[in-house]
Amino acid sequence: VDSIINHKEINAALESTKKASQDPVAIKAILEAAKERSFLTNYTPGKSEYVQGLTVEECATLLNIDANNADLMDMVYDTAFAIKNRIYGNRIVLFAPLYIANYCVNSCTYCAFRAGNKGLQRTALSDDDIREEVGALERQGHRRLLVLTGEHPKYTFDQFLHALHVINSVKTDPCGNIRRVNVEIPTLSVSDMRRLKATDCVGTFTLFQETYHRPTFAKMHVSGPKSDFNHRLLTQDRAFRGGIDDVGIGTLFGLYDYKYEVLAMLQHSNHLEAEYGAGPHTISVPRLRPADGSDLSIRPPYEVDDANFKKLVAIIRIAVPYTGMILSTRESPQMRDELLQVGMSQMSAGSRTDVGAYHRDDNEATEKHLGDLSGQFSLMDHRTASEVVKDLMAKGYVPSWCTACYRKGRTGEHFMKIAKAGNIHNFCHPNSLLTLQEYLNDYGDEEAKKIGEQLIAKEAAEGLSDSAKRMLSRKMAKVNAGEHDVY
Ligand code: SAM
Ligand code: SF4
Repeated sequence: VDSIINHKEINAALESTKKASQDPVAIKAILEAAKERSFLTNYTPGKSEYVQGLTVEECATLLNIDANNADLMDMVYDTAFAIKNRIYGNRIVLFAPLYIANYCVNSCTYCAFRAGNKGLQRTALSDDDIREEVGALERQGHRRLLVLTGEHPKYTFDQFLHALHVINSVKTDPCGNIRRVNVEIPTLSVSDMRRLKATDCVGTFTLFQETYHRPTFAKMHVSGPKSDFNHRLLTQDRAFRGGIDDVGIGTLFGLYDYKYEVLAMLQHSNHLEAEYGAGPHTISVPRLRPADGSDLSIRPPYEVDDANFKKLVAIIRIAVPYTGMILSTRESPQMRDELLQVGMSQMSAGSRTDVGAYHRDDNEATEKHLGDLSGQFSLMDHRTASEVVKDLMAKGYVPSWCTACYRKGRTGEHFMKIAKAGNIHNFCHPNSLLTLQEYLNDYGDEEAKKIGEQLIAKEAAEGLSDSAKRMLSRKMAKVNAGEHDVY
């Protein structure tokens, strides 16, 4: 564990780069080199002599830039945007979280599900509830879910495996079904990771370290199985060893110094890359939000302001160029707009963090949202999925529900090989347009269809080879004839 997160290296890098962080020439040199290295045309998985993105020292230099220095920050943002655009284009993959159970034995100081929050009503979805929830999400157009739970003997791993089975069997919406299920659940042993893999229906295993700073971790997680820092840090290793080849990592910003957290996350990512030939498939950057029963609701111990948050998102994009970056509804619509421009490639839409909320909303049309604090934490973006889709399209982004890579077996090392060489654009762009057309046909209102069809026409005419255009138009005809899941 100590060789994964090297505390001394982090502190030394933050200390030694303070001067360089004010020098425009040094910053420009780092950014140009990082841009140059963001594609490895001759990349071979596991060959860690290739530095892609940033070294820990370069990353520390960028983190030390004053977020209010507009000239330096513009250089950082332009580089992040260029890298994101070259790898991910203007596509934004959409998903929704699905909370299955809120029982929890842990004591995470910041979370409404913590055992000590006696005021929270505890529940787990029945099979029928799951079918209703999934149906409600499908009717919003969702095709990708992130399934979450707390940790409690009342809700066992066997029950969770059963829930996955139920989710995957739902086809209530005649227009389609869920095509990718990622999970964010308590850490597992290697043998349970194998059982998860054996379900053959799980994509990415995501787990946030919350904080990589051991003393802060101990303070925030005083009891329960989650209080074991080492066991948590090795979760992604156990996932790989259990045969799961896409893993996600993340830090809860606000618990400790953001500069330390970003550098530690980079070390964690480098470790996974060196050990398993595939770095994190995704990186999440949740920022601490008020939560019912939380001791930290009033003020996070290391609150990250908007300027520094935007800075750190851009730096992660430059540091780990190939990774998918996930943006949640913890951020406001305005902040989400800004963050999309500097590196985010996936976002949730229409999210609820209270168990059973999607079908409750559907069934009780007159009852407005149950109030801000009834979920795991409060949210900042309350727009519906349809509003988010329209807003993205109006701003020139292509909302995508594409899951073709997983169906084609492009995961783990195989995916990295394509992503690192900057080639996912060739596959993803036509596929994303097909999913957008499918969405518009099935769920788009007049307004969505109008913006969406113009966008698709523009995107199909630009940047694709003649053969790709011919293939796209052939497949588009199938979608418009009512076929689903065309890629
Ligand atoms: N219970 C599992 C665990 O803790 O690993 C699964 C994930 S938990 C349901 C989802 C994540 O929400 C946590 O890992 C944490 O980072 C985040 N979270 C908890 N409380 C939060 C808060 N007040 N504000 C923002 N994010 C929060
Ligand atoms: Fe439980 Fe996860 Fe919330 Fe911690 S963050 S209290 S483990 S649900």
